[in-house]
Amino acid sequence: MTKSIVCACEDVLVEEVRRAFLAGNRDLESVKRYTGFGTGPCQGKSCVSLVARELLRLGATPAEVLPFTVRPPYRPVPLGALAAIAPDELPLDDGVPVAPAEARTPAAELAPLPARADVVIVGGGIMGLALAYELTRRGTRDVLVLERAYLNAGASGRNGGGVRAQWTTPTMIRLARRSLELCDRFAVEMGVNVWFRRGGYLFLAPTPEQVERIERNADFHRREGLRTRVLGRAEALEVVPQLDPARFLAASYNPDDGVVFPWPFLWGYAGRAEAAGARVATFTTVTGFERAEKRVTAVVTDRGRVACDLVVVAAGAWSKEVAALAGVALPNRPTRHEILVTEPMKPWLDPLVSVLGNGLYFSQSQRGELVGGMGDPLEPEGVVQGSTLRFLARFARAAIDCIPLLAGTRVLRQWAGCYDVTPDNNPVLGPAGFENFHQLSGFVGHGFMMAPAVAELYADWLTGRGKHELFEQFTLDRFTRGPVAREDFIIG
Ligand SMILES: Cc1cc2nc3c(=O)[nH]c(=O)nc-3n(C[C@H](O)[C@H](O)[C@H](O)COP(=O)(O)OP(=O)(O)OC[C@H]3O[C@@H](n4cnc5c(N)ncnc54)[C@H](O)[C@@H]3O)c2cc1C
Repeated sequence: MTKSIVCACEDVLVEEVRRAFLAGNRDLESVKRYTGFGTGPCQGKSCVSLVARELLRLGATPAEVLPFTVRPPYRPVPLGALAAIAPDELPLDDGVPVAPAEARTPAAELAPLPARADVVIVGGGIMGLALAYELTRRGTRDVLVLERAYLNAGASGRNGGGVRAQWTTPTMIRLARRSLELCDRFAVEMGVNVWFRRGGYLFLAPTPEQVERIERNADFHRREGLRTRVLGRAEALEVVPQLDPARFLAASYNPDDGVVFPWPFLWGYAGRAEAAGARVATFTTVTGFERAEKRVTAVVTDRGRVACDLVVVAAGAWSKEVAALAGVALPNRPTRHEILVTEPMKPWLDPLVSVLGNGLYFSQSQRGELVGGMGDPLEPEGVVQGSTLRFLARFARAAIDCIPLLAGTRVLRQWAGCYDVTPDNNPVLGPAGFENFHQLSGFVGHGFMMAPAVAELYADWLTGRGKHELFEQFTLDRFTRGPVAREDFIIG
């Protein structure tokens, strides 16, 4: 095996590019999400041409070796300059590329799909892959994951990597705590570094109402065994001295919350599931389902048909459209959320900071970059993954309000993904429409942190090891049974 390095920032070897190619990834974007090349401080400047040359050598055509999706800003721009732009005068969609160009590997060059599988999972995001892994661990080997694009193409490859236990119901707290435990062990058990760091979460409360809310929550958290504390301004400044104290009254702080780099989670789950016998077929789109009475009998794809005993729809923001292919109506509403990353800085920020009320959040990655996002109340429903100047301007203003020193920090890249929003901000789980047609969707802005714990419980249930209350609580029919309790401690 050659030890030649193509990406010095991320230590990516030629061999890894070759493996990515053999898995069907022929354009730079897919290979980037498969290997992690080009994500380091040089932002691909040194490695893009090397990887492109290697792909051509391996047999990709120049038309397939597409560059990364162009994501503004085109050169590093200080947050201070972006904050000078008035966001309200900017459209929600200002002409920046709306969807990345997706290279498609010719179907003939991919390994054929099996004629049947015990379990077919639609969607190769963290939900689908974590479930595939947990099923194989429990002895269900004949699992097929179908993914429309490349791994990390959906929200799982576009999120903020926040993992927190500060929730408002016992169920969510317990799930999140379990996921945090699994994050602690993930790198060692799965053999892949996920850059997990427990720097805490600091929620800033700018109004007396928000202070009351975090005080109530903190009492409840302590009863659930969390170390959440309400900090006054002075104490919050001990945690993040750069905060502008005029912008908040108090803060909720749990030092045990953390952040991860999401991509390796998918590599880890996919790799271990495949090693145990599951198959992950990328560049394969589910286009329909065959049905007989109360059961789904086969999944139809653009690369053929697969007969199956059980289907799990884990298609994130696309779940509504995938479920509709079987005639099942989900209430989910996909909504774009934008996010950005700045130039790397020396470590200065421990927790993920979030401002209650305006949806701003940011944390510092292990590489020193600030990673941050902010929802937009005017964002319309729809699967849109383009980037806007309006977001940059809104984020810059809110971030500088919170930490004035950020004005000089330069933004390197921005991107967007979709939240999969349900009416009560809770997931849709379990069979819907057909007895063997399961849903694993509707995780809004917190699916990444829930996936490890939810997948364990789901696999237990599917393999006859007991049904957790979660699967009674979050059924699709709850929306027709009567009023539902909303989870409102949502970021973004
Ligand atoms: C900007 C942003 C920030 C976020 N921050 C956080 C955070 O800090 N912490 C956190 O826990 N969560 C966060 N989230 C939410 C989190 O990313 C999601 O809840 C989670 O990734 C959902 O995982 P998933 O597997 O359900 O969906 P996805 O990762 O979207 O995977 C679904 C997959 O299904 C595939 N698919 C779609 N249609 C088809 C089809 N017809 N056939 C085959 N495949 C198909 C898609 O290509 C996609 O890869 C954030 C989300 C966004 C957008």
